[in-house]
Amino acid sequence: MTVRELREKYLRFFESKGHQRFPAASLVPYDVTGRLDESLLFTGAGMIQFKPFFRGVARPDHLRLITCQPCVRTGDIDEIGDDTHLSFFEMLGNFSFGDYFKAQAIAFSWEFLTDKQWLGLDPRRLSFSIFEDDEEAYNEWAFWLTPAGLEPASRIVRLGEESNYWPANAFSAGPPGPCGPNSEMFYWTSKEEPPGNDYTQEDWVRDEAAGKWVEIWNDVFIQYEWQGHLKDPSNSKLGYEKDGMPELPFKSIDTGMGLDRTAIVLGGHKSIYEIDVFQPIFAKIRGLRGAGVPPAGSREERAERIVADHLRTASFCIADGILPGNTGRGYVLRRLIRRATLQGQRVLGFNEPFLHIVYEGLVESMGDFYTSLIDQREMIVETLRNEETLFRRTLSNGLRLLAEQMDALIAQRKSSYSGTAAFQLYDTYGFPLEITQEILSESGFTLNVEAYEAALAEAQIRSRKAQGDTSAYGGVTAAEELTADDAPGFTTFLGYSGVDAEARVVRIRPAGEGLLVALDRTPFYAESGGQTGDHGTLTLPDGTALPVDNTTKSGGTFWHHVSAKEIEPEKLLGQTVRAQVLGARRDRIRRNHTATHLLQAALRQTLGTHVAQAGSYVGPDNLRFDFTHSKAMTPEEIERVERSVNEQALANTEVTTYVDLPIDEARAKGAMALFGEKYGDRVRMVEIGDFSRELCGGIHVRTTGEIGLFKIVSESSAASGVRRIEAITGEGAYEWVLEETKRLREAAALLKTSPRELVPAIERTVEAAKEERRRREKAEMASMGGGTATAERSDAIDVGPVVLWRRNFGDVDPKLAANAVDNAAAAKPNQVTLAAVVSNGKPQFICKCGTDAVTAGAHAGNLLREVAKIAGGGGGGRPDFATAGGRDAGKVDEALEAAAKILATMVGVSAD
Ligand code: ATP
Ligand code: MG
Repeated sequence: MTVRELREKYLRFFESKGHQRFPAASLVPYDVTGRLDESLLFTGAGMIQFKPFFRGVARPDHLRLITCQPCVRTGDIDEIGDDTHLSFFEMLGNFSFGDYFKAQAIAFSWEFLTDKQWLGLDPRRLSFSIFEDDEEAYNEWAFWLTPAGLEPASRIVRLGEESNYWPANAFSAGPPGPCGPNSEMFYWTSKEEPPGNDYTQEDWVRDEAAGKWVEIWNDVFIQYEWQGHLKDPSNSKLGYEKDGMPELPFKSIDTGMGLDRTAIVLGGHKSIYEIDVFQPIFAKIRGLRGAGVPPAGSREERAERIVADHLRTASFCIADGILPGNTGRGYVLRRLIRRATLQGQRVLGFNEPFLHIVYEGLVESMGDFYTSLIDQREMIVETLRNEETLFRRTLSNGLRLLAEQMDALIAQRKSSYSGTAAFQLYDTYGFPLEITQEILSESGFTLNVEAYEAALAEAQIRSRKAQGDTSAYGGVTAAEELTADDAPGFTTFLGYSGVDAEARVVRIRPAGEGLLVALDRTPFYAESGGQTGDHGTLTLPDGTALPVDNTTKSGGTFWHHVSAKEIEPEKLLGQTVRAQVLGARRDRIRRNHTATHLLQAALRQTLGTHVAQAGSYVGPDNLRFDFTHSKAMTPEEIERVERSVNEQALANTEVTTYVDLPIDEARAKGAMALFGEKYGDRVRMVEIGDFSRELCGGIHVRTTGEIGLFKIVSESSAASGVRRIEAITGEGAYEWVLEETKRLREAAALLKTSPRELVPAIERTVEAAKEERRRREKAEMASMGGGTATAERSDAIDVGPVVLWRRNFGDVDPKLAANAVDNAAAAKPNQVTLAAVVSNGKPQFICKCGTDAVTAGAHAGNLLREVAKIAGGGGGGRPDFATAGGRDAGKVDEALEAAAKILATMVGVSAD
């Protein structure tokens, strides 16, 4: 039985029991009244949307409903790769709102599971759990078990709130809402004979833990409203009337049968990934890799499964309008895509984005039932591709560093990786902790997560404080790092006030071809907050100048990237050097940085306050600013924004930096902060008059006049809902203007005019070219009219007793073509003359038949009707003359070609 057949069978069974089909809810948990369920991230069960029905605050049209509900369970993500848990699965459910209750629900379940007409499962292979002393449920199952020859006590187990109350762990951890005891149904999947009548609860618990019993279905007896408080935590009997939990106005039924889970049982499979819906996805993966089925239990097998599961979940999330982000649902989605990418990249060998291609396998397997996979294909594919591309960039940098560090640790026979190093990976490369953890554990390394968290917390506080903080920071535990005995843990940053300083080399670390050098203090700005790292030189006392081609920081240490190989690290350590930043380059960066602040403020003024920064890059040559805005900016909007920034530049406003401002004060002043970013209590705020206030650690101009000219060079889409502006300032903008004027001058020179006169000159030239073409066409037509015999003959073929003359005139005046047709047809009684022109992009046809041709059976009107149809049009007319129009200019030749055949039928000869 396929998954599709099982789904349909379930729905049909309950239809036969008076249920109506009801649409599934979105994965974003909106209920039937359209309210978002704030207690949940995702719809994880069929009942979620029905809470208002259970509570009696909204009434269904029908008291018995059935659904097939897509579910996402984030808690199960870590179990992916086992044989029974998916992060996305379909749940079939029958619901009763104050209609039937426990006895009827159990009877339905029993019939569907065991009746030959439905699933026909062997009752000996079934077992049932109930909530503690729910005698009613016990008796109902016993009622069915006994006649089947099964001792009820050998098949019914009593369990606690963890598994047999809905929601699970309701009393200790569950969200408030409709709840009640439940009863789960299990299937014996073991190869061994199913147990006999002497089977006990202890046996059951042991076998269930060993995976011999697999849960397939859960009947929930909704009765109470759990309110999230626990009157008496020691009272395990909570959940019964006597405990005073508020009762709902009526008793209801909510059941959930795992579609994918049950398909394992019916197919006799070992794993959920063997069911049919996954096969097209695996086929796509294997086809792309050019590989076969991976060996059972291999890394490749696990990777394929993770990719298939996560891709499915991610795609359904996107189809329901969720986009990757840094919080909530968006973050779950991002993690899913990242984990799938990682498996694809590291284990399956995909070096290019691949998820959007494998997506086609999902469409193949589920697109027929879930048409949104097809309707939303473009958005899903784009989102997958963008997110994967972004993450791959992060990945390659981080993976390289991590591999080096692990090698070094292995060389030192160490198996624990430091939390601060993991933090550095996150801080410098945006490498997520869970991925670092995963890679480390695969290679047998351990990681101190507390140390990571401490480093994270510390860095957050410190990065918001002004420099000068001397708190010792643990620094980076990296392989082979040389550290001066008295090295401070923290680099003092001097770059806000200067570009030149004496400093001491306190740490050195080999990196690729070069070295990373840390100083006790430095004027070099380290890449952060979008601003690129400084370049410059470190000069040794002997005059050797080491070029610095980037500066980064991890935690509180600033690393100068020095490419010189010759230098011996040991000699460098402890030296006093002169650190000089390339000032001109820094100035260009500053201009772009302050301009970025002005740009953000101008965008918010022009487009609205929904504009929020979604990313930025501030370099020496240009700036890039990504922001949330749902549609492309119009040329007028772009001009207004650009003008507003330039006005601010001309006003030469002073840029004021508040170094150690209480965050509340900054907020009160309306300072822009980055969404989702954690700030400490004291912040650095950059203020430009009354126009802009932002929390920022970057380097700025003193007055806005230093920016010079601000020029937007492009506006484009960066991701869905995110626009990107690229702009230039100062010399860059000046160079750009020079370049543009030069181009204009050259263009004007070609037309022998001045740049100012360029547009009219181009208009004249274009007009003249058109005129020239018209003249040529006219001449050509005229020559055809007088026509030499050979030229005419080449357009003509014999079709039985008549001659077919045809010609595609292309884009010419239809009147001219009509004249040409008249000329071609003149004094040719046995000729069918057929011509086409394309006017305003649409084809037109003219046909004339001579008297003999008409006698032979030719009919201009009928011929054109068929011919024009090929070009997407129609028409008709008299036997001797007709015109017709079409829609598709690309089909004209084909239509003319077909005329011979059509004509042949008319005059009664074979087509060839
Ligand atoms: P389990 O104990 O097996 O994790 P559960 O008790 O969490 O399951 P329920 O909340 O009772 O599951 O959900 C009802 C049904 O949904 C289950 O009986 C099972 O068939 C199916 N199901 C639950 N979780 C998953 C999952 N992660 N993947 C596939 N099917 C699932
Ligand atoms: Mg369950």
